[in-house]
Amino acid sequence: MKSPQGNKVKKLRGIAVSPGIIIGKARLVDRSRVKILYQYLVNEQQVSGEVDRFKDALVAAKEQIAAVKNKMPEQIRKHAFILDTHLMILEDSMFCNATIQTIRKEKINAEWALKKSIQNIEKLFAQIEDRYIKERIVDVQCVAERVLRNLAGKEQEDLFEIKERVIIVAHELSPADTSSINIGKVMGFITNVGGRTSHAAIMAQSLKIPAVVGLETATHHVHDGTLLIVDGQTGEVIIDPDDDEIIHYQERQIQRERYESSIIRLSHLPAETVDGVRVAVKANIELLEEVVAAKDNGAEGIGLYRTEYHYLRSSNLPKEEELFEDYREVAEIIAPDPVTIRTLDLGGDRVSSGVSQIKEANPALGLRAIRFSLKEKTLFKSQLRAILRASVFGNIQMMFPMISGLQELLDAKEILRLVMDDLEKEGLEYDRHIKVGVMVEVPSAVTVADILARHVDFFSIGTNDLIQYALAIDRGNEHVAYMYQPFHPAILRLIHQVVEVGRKADISVALCGEMAGDPLCAPILLGLGIDELSLNATRIPIIKKIIRTLSFQESKKDLEKIFHLETATQVRDFIKKKMQPLIGELDQKGLISTTNNHA
Ligand code: PEP
Ligand code: MG
Repeated sequence: MKSPQGNKVKKLRGIAVSPGIIIGKARLVDRSRVKILYQYLVNEQQVSGEVDRFKDALVAAKEQIAAVKNKMPEQIRKHAFILDTHLMILEDSMFCNATIQTIRKEKINAEWALKKSIQNIEKLFAQIEDRYIKERIVDVQCVAERVLRNLAGKEQEDLFEIKERVIIVAHELSPADTSSINIGKVMGFITNVGGRTSHAAIMAQSLKIPAVVGLETATHHVHDGTLLIVDGQTGEVIIDPDDDEIIHYQERQIQRERYESSIIRLSHLPAETVDGVRVAVKANIELLEEVVAAKDNGAEGIGLYRTEYHYLRSSNLPKEEELFEDYREVAEIIAPDPVTIRTLDLGGDRVSSGVSQIKEANPALGLRAIRFSLKEKTLFKSQLRAILRASVFGNIQMMFPMISGLQELLDAKEILRLVMDDLEKEGLEYDRHIKVGVMVEVPSAVTVADILARHVDFFSIGTNDLIQYALAIDRGNEHVAYMYQPFHPAILRLIHQVVEVGRKADISVALCGEMAGDPLCAPILLGLGIDELSLNATRIPIIKKIIRTLSFQESKKDLEKIFHLETATQVRDFIKKKMQPLIGELDQKGLISTTNNHA
């Protein structure tokens, strides 16, 4: 394939979403849309035949999705809810009944009638303001495409049927596609579309296969069988590499694997600096299933258990008993280390179909997190009961998200006290000394941290939101992604302020935003005196290794210099220089990327 200038395209660059280097043959997966033709049905017999044909296509689609679910690799079972959503769409009356009615009323073929139903559903979705729900239209389109393929009698190649070792190249991969990837065979994938938080990207990380998305023209430049090198660290894809390039990348690949396993082998060691200061390194999890992997990666507890999953995965609210069993199991697996359960952080972009939520112009500034829980008291109480009841089975502590001032904290604690009284009356056991903390993630909480500190056992700084609210940038908006700057002097000062308050009040200060897993942030957070870092489990071995190479005293001195710097870029450059050669080594081995790769 030639570029517009006539040269053969050799290299593409996309968004690196799952690290690792692979060299292998391309396998183009055709996900092009089925052509839909209009057909008028002349008699009743044809109409009922068409309805039956549509029903058969629905049944086949259900069977295909069920088969994908059954063959789903263990690592990504937790994403099975996406396929459950697809099964629900196949039962939805706007999808099924409406299509059947259109076939009958308008005497038209099933394909055309389904197209009309989808257009109606698309119109409805177009009116939705919430970006997350609006984007779920892709699931409806994906299911429709499957039904259309069934109607056309077109085989859809399911990815678990791929038998050779290949790199998948596709315009787009649906959740059903990525769920059915056979990791024994598929080495990784590249796609034209997609972003860092797309389903496909998340799946690739869970499967630990390299992936690059957002390449725009990959399917134009790559043929079936073309040799490719995919670098899931830099986002580079090399088409038809020459021998030198192959040797170069093979070496990088070997080095990376060796280096990574040497780091993992040491992950059980404590994160203790060369001058003997120890930082607790814990894991952020969203699911019970992640606890064992967290432990294997060297987590010394769970520093943040996000609890939204149970509320997001189905349209029914979770029962107290279900939550209790889940929390209890997490506590038992991680014991004697602690787990910090964060109460529900619904609202913003996390919307549950099980609770009615008001349409808001600015959801991130709306009824989110603790504000939502304080309004939905019954729901809040049921979660608190589950946490308290589980607290006798391990070392559980709890924290409230998005506290913006003392009144909210007192209101939440009052509800907690009422729940404790109820349990007392019912003769149910709970840990009466359970530690209660707050997430410090709203700038006003930093300002009044001294007041909050008198009423809590610990702070956990949520930099993902703190950066969003302090720098006034929507954390999900790609147009301002470049502004997401953990090194911004304002952010460093805010964190410093919280740590100082914590030290004076003698309460521990943890940090659980993405910053905790960024190797370049490690010396700053150490110098600031953060007691605990909580991060994605896969980053734990690297962060522990980095801390083991640092000196606390030196990091503190560097911080004094850093506080004189005036921009995020200056801070970043200072740190990069300071941390050579280690950072260069990690970068070269493909374990971190020091380039700003916003997408
Ligand atoms: C944070 O805001 O930094 C945080 C850890 O919470 P979440 O990403 O769940 O909002
Ligand atoms: Mg947050």
